[in-house]
Amino acid sequence: MQHSTLIDKVRQQIFGRRTDAEQMLAALIAIPSISGQEGAVQQKLCDTFDRLVGTCELIPMPESLRADPAFASGINVPFAGRPQTRHLWKGTGAGRSLILAAHVDVVGPGDWEDAFTPRLQGDRLYGRGAVDDKSAIVSVFLALQSLQAAGIRPAGDVQVHLTNEEEVGMAGALAFVRAGFRADGVLVCEPTGHHLRVAHRGCLQFTIEVAGKQAHLGRKRYGVNAIEKAAKIIDALVRYEDRLIEEGRGYPMFESFEYPRPGQRRNHQGRRLLLHRARQGHPRGGSGVPPAQEHERGRTGTSRCRARNR
Ligand SMILES: [Zn+2]
Repeated sequence: MQHSTLIDKVRQQIFGRRTDAEQMLAALIAIPSISGQEGAVQQKLCDTFDRLVGTCELIPMPESLRADPAFASGINVPFAGRPQTRHLWKGTGAGRSLILAAHVDVVGPGDWEDAFTPRLQGDRLYGRGAVDDKSAIVSVFLALQSLQAAGIRPAGDVQVHLTNEEEVGMAGALAFVRAGFRADGVLVCEPTGHHLRVAHRGCLQFTIEVAGKQAHLGRKRYGVNAIEKAAKIIDALVRYEDRLIEEGRGYPMFESFEYPRPGQRRNHQGRRLLLHRARQGHPRGGSGVPPAQEHERGRTGTSRCRARNR
C-alpha cells in the first residue's frame, strides 16, 4: 500500500473515534488522580489498555527508590497501592522499538471547585488534567487503536509507560528507568503546543523551612520572626532567579522560550514556614497601639498593611 494511502487510512480511523476519545478523556478527568493518589486511574487504564494490546504489566515503585541519588519527590506518600502500568504492543520482529510515555497524575484543584467534573464547551473539554497529561494518554490509546484498525503492526515493540508523580519530581519515570526498560526512541507525550521538542530543561524543587521563636508582643527582642527572616531569603531567591534566567540565554534549543531556565519559587509552600505565632499555616501577628492612638486607628493601619501585602 502506498505511504500516503496508509496515512489517510490511519487518519480516517482517528477522526472516526472522536466521540470515543472525548468520552475516555472525560472519564479520566473524573478520577481525581492528584500526585500520590494514582491507584484508581492506573487500575482503570490497566483495564482499558489491556483490552487493546493485552499484557498490562504493573510496575511497582519500590520504597528503596527513595534512596536513589536521582530520586526527587515533593510529596511523601507511600508507594504501596498505586503501581504504575506498562503496556506492550509486540512488534513483528527486528524493527526499532519505541516508548510512549505519559503521566497519570495531576496537580491539585486549587480553588477550582469542579475541577474533576469534565465540562464540554464547544469543541473544548475542560477539567483538571484535560491537557496535562490525560489528553496525551488518550492520544496514545487512540493512536494504537487506529493503527491496529488500519491493519498496521509495528516491526519493533511499542511500550506505553504510564507514570505516577510526574508533577512532583518524576519518581515514577525514574522507577521505569531503574526497572531497566529501554527502547531505541522515547516520545514523552507532554503538551507542548503540538510541537515536537528534542530537548528539555531539568527541574529543581525545594522547600525552605524558616524557624521562628515565639515571644510576647511586648518582648519582641526575645523572639525571632520567621516571616521577617523569610523575606530576606525570598529577596535573595528573586535575585538568584533573575541571574538564572540571564545565564539560561543562548542555549541553542531553548532560544524561542522567554524563560529558558526559570528559577522556581514555591510560594504556596509558604505554609511550611514556622511563623511567629503561626496557627495552621495562617500567620498571626499583632500590632501594638500607642497610648495616644485609638484602637480603631490601629486596626485600620494593620488591615491597610495586610491589603497592601496581599
Ligand atoms: Zn505534564
